[in-house]
Amino acid sequence: MIRHYRDRFEVVSLGAHSNIALLEAQIAEFHPRRVAVAKPDAARELAARCAGTDVLSGHMGLEAIAAEPADVAMCAMVGAAGLRPVLRAIEAGNRVALANKEPLVMAGPLIMAAARERNVHVTPVDSEHNAIFQCLHGHRPDDVHCIHLTASGGPFYGRPRADLAQVTPEQAARHPRWDMGVKISVDSATLMNKGLEVIEAMWLFGMPLDRIRVVIHPQSIIHSLVEFTDGSILAHLGLTDMKFPILFALTWPERLETPMGRLDLTRMHDLTFAAPDFTEFPCLQYAFDAARTGGTAPAILNAANEVAVDAFCKGRIGFLQISEVVRATMETCSSTSLANLDAILDADRLARDSAEKRIGHTA
Ligand code: MG
Repeated sequence: MIRHYRDRFEVVSLGAHSNIALLEAQIAEFHPRRVAVAKPDAARELAARCAGTDVLSGHMGLEAIAAEPADVAMCAMVGAAGLRPVLRAIEAGNRVALANKEPLVMAGPLIMAAARERNVHVTPVDSEHNAIFQCLHGHRPDDVHCIHLTASGGPFYGRPRADLAQVTPEQAARHPRWDMGVKISVDSATLMNKGLEVIEAMWLFGMPLDRIRVVIHPQSIIHSLVEFTDGSILAHLGLTDMKFPILFALTWPERLETPMGRLDLTRMHDLTFAAPDFTEFPCLQYAFDAARTGGTAPAILNAANEVAVDAFCKGRIGFLQISEVVRATMETCSSTSLANLDAILDADRLARDSAEKRIGHTA
């Protein structure tokens, strides 16, 4: 999007985990003042290749670039790694375009309180939340009856649970509608992604859990809906391409002409909806349970899931064990209050250890 609207944007800084080949090409094209690479050896290698660029290293480096003064900080890290950089961006007063849902799952009240204090807008990039944000605009919070988060159902929708024991990481990562990273695609296959999005929506929109619904919509044309007290439902429709919410979040409150084409309504013959099956996809149930328990329970859920998905991707456990590891970890680790960031990071660490032990017994 920045390449397309080259005259509208200046790239202040860029961060990456370890893909320095891509980052090097982006440095040559966009000339950021500073870059950060989370993996220290990759950072060293990049610094040697790009002598004229300020290359920061490690998680501190990512936090530093998040806090560089800018109109908007697009936070699109994977998992819990995004928590501190998101907080640093807010503390620095940068508007946050948030693509990384796990920080809100872990520390929603802290992040939203920090954003209110600094008068920083958290603009959702997650397609469902981006849709809800647009549907809510101009309406009074008291008039909202509930929000409906749509879910494609992932690659295994409609298949009996018993069939899923043998699925491979490659099959799970092949999302039928959205082109996304591996972790989020596996989360979509277990429906944990939708569960995390329920918690994300609670904090982003200050919405009580009992006003958040999940509806399966396999075509992924409606990206979510808001239902009002008078029975009216507003939906957000669009092509299934993350570039739309990315561009919206970058330019909000302005809208730019789309370079991606437009949805042809006359070709939309079947937009269908169904209730999710909490028994076939228990991760969705566990996320609702964690949200209801509150405190550090969502952080425990998230940590267990990250460890389990990683183990699945490495072939250490089967697909069905992902939800088992999450359930066992939720039962073992008890939730405490969300007193501060340390309490959350402690819960995260204990849950990771517990999930890892469980996988050790299983594998
Ligand atoms: Mg989403």
